[in-house]
Amino acid sequence: RKNLEYISTGVRSLDDLLEGGVEVGSITELIGEFGAGKTQICHQLAVMVQLPKEKGGLNARALYIDTEGTFRPERIIQIARAKQLDPEKALENIIYARAYNSDHQMLLVDEAKKYIESQNIRLIIVDSLINHFRAEYPGRENLASRQQKLNRHISQLHRLASLYNLAVVVTNQVMSSPDIFFGNPMKPAGGNIMAHGCTYRIWLRKAKEGKRIARIIDSPKHAEKEVAFAITEDGVTD
Ligand code: ADP
Ligand code: MG
Repeated sequence: RKNLEYISTGVRSLDDLLEGGVEVGSITELIGEFGAGKTQICHQLAVMVQLPKEKGGLNARALYIDTEGTFRPERIIQIARAKQLDPEKALENIIYARAYNSDHQMLLVDEAKKYIESQNIRLIIVDSLINHFRAEYPGRENLASRQQKLNRHISQLHRLASLYNLAVVVTNQVMSSPDIFFGNPMKPAGGNIMAHGCTYRIWLRKAKEGKRIARIIDSPKHAEKEVAFAITEDGVTD
């Protein structure tokens, strides 16, 4: 049995939910509506991976693939300060790439192979995995080609995760289901390809008084439970 490594989220409740944190060698998917906290958790993880192992990190760097233009260096600086890291160094340790379309996004992942080891990258973030694919392949008539391409992209990420022993964290949107009268009116985008492609799925939602709830869904190894967390000046917290 493999000795699994984790990146702490920096939030006790979320680490509990994930039984240690974000797992190396796997893809963890953050699902949620706009404002649920997906991008905030991505920022925090890009800092957390830099911490020494005894503080929950991997003493390593992050590759941050941003498809929506929502990466904020100021936010990294705030979170790094809260974790007692040098903010400038913390920023330097995040290799940032903006993906302008789905082909570019896949190219960035492909090219990453060349420098993952030399740059000590142990975390790849793709925020969001799916928005370019949805925009470029709209409607039923494009669904099959979109899903096929999405599948290739997820396979690329799995390969990197196992080849280089790193964690992959991706975000996904929710959309309203046409089956609104049959249970949950919202469901994650990307259908079965996303559901089967990502190892662990965390569903985030806003709750009362600025609180947020995270739930792990369809996990092969975790109990299906919910925990609360918050977002403050210092980052994502209990
Ligand atoms: P998503 O990516 O799921 O759409 P975000 O991760 O961007 O959502 O979350 C945005 C929310 O995070 C904001 O609505 C706000 O509530 C909270 N947030 C962001 N920055 C801060 C901050 N500096 N202090 C407190 N809350 C913040
Ligand atoms: Mg976001």
